[in-house]
Amino acid sequence: MKFSDEQIHRYSRQMILPGIGGKGQRKLMEAKVLIMGAGGLGSPAAIYLAAAGVGTIGLADFDRVELHNLQRQILHKTDDLGRLKVESGRETVESLNPEVKVQTYSDRIVSANIREIIKGYDLVLDGSDNFPTRFLVNDACYFERKTLISGAILRFDGQLSTFKPHAGGPCYRCLFPEPPPPGMVPSCQEAGVLGAVAGVIGILQANEALKEILGLGESMAGRFLMFNALNLSFHEVKIAKNSNCPLCGENPTIKELIEYLQVCQA
Ligand SMILES: [Zn+2]
Repeated sequence: MKFSDEQIHRYSRQMILPGIGGKGQRKLMEAKVLIMGAGGLGSPAAIYLAAAGVGTIGLADFDRVELHNLQRQILHKTDDLGRLKVESGRETVESLNPEVKVQTYSDRIVSANIREIIKGYDLVLDGSDNFPTRFLVNDACYFERKTLISGAILRFDGQLSTFKPHAGGPCYRCLFPEPPPPGMVPSCQEAGVLGAVAGVIGILQANEALKEILGLGESMAGRFLMFNALNLSFHEVKIAKNSNCPLCGENPTIKELIEYLQVCQA
């Protein structure tokens, strides 16, 4: 692949970085990243990945844009109210960088279709807002051996980690073996969330995705980051593979995708 003058110009500020160059830019342009949820986390992540020239971005979301989304879901504009999020997301990404190929999935992501979808990607970024989807995505990534960059937000707090059990690290279930009972953990709809917190975590997910693609720096695999916006603090803990993990442990009880109780999307 030879770069056009326009491409060299567009990506010049990152191509001069140590460890990127033309070789790294080519890796980005050949990369395929699937973003689960075109919402608070998926929006900033998609924008930064597109700006960096990630070649293929998949957007999966069955929701339509509602007014209360616009406080944080910056892929969508007031004019997009009522449209499918993946459609308005595609438009925003393409207007920022027409070189990016956007693939959209507006069907609900379930056990029956997820493996076929993620097969075609190098990396999955989870920005979903409910536990059944979070566990479904984790399990599907485990079976398909895909690196998963996971983010979560609520109120003034955010969390971030990378899971690649195929490379020896823990999976999401090593930390949280089972979903909490419905109603135990409030949703953003019930508890609220600051839009900028979604921005911080979504951009960190994009940052980690770029690092994984480029093979740069220290991976977040085996590390779990907690962010609090009110006192502006980042706190990190090491996380290890759990030999009793029901998915990736020594005696797994989950050997294929199971039924994941669907709850409403906030
Ligand atoms: Zn595990």
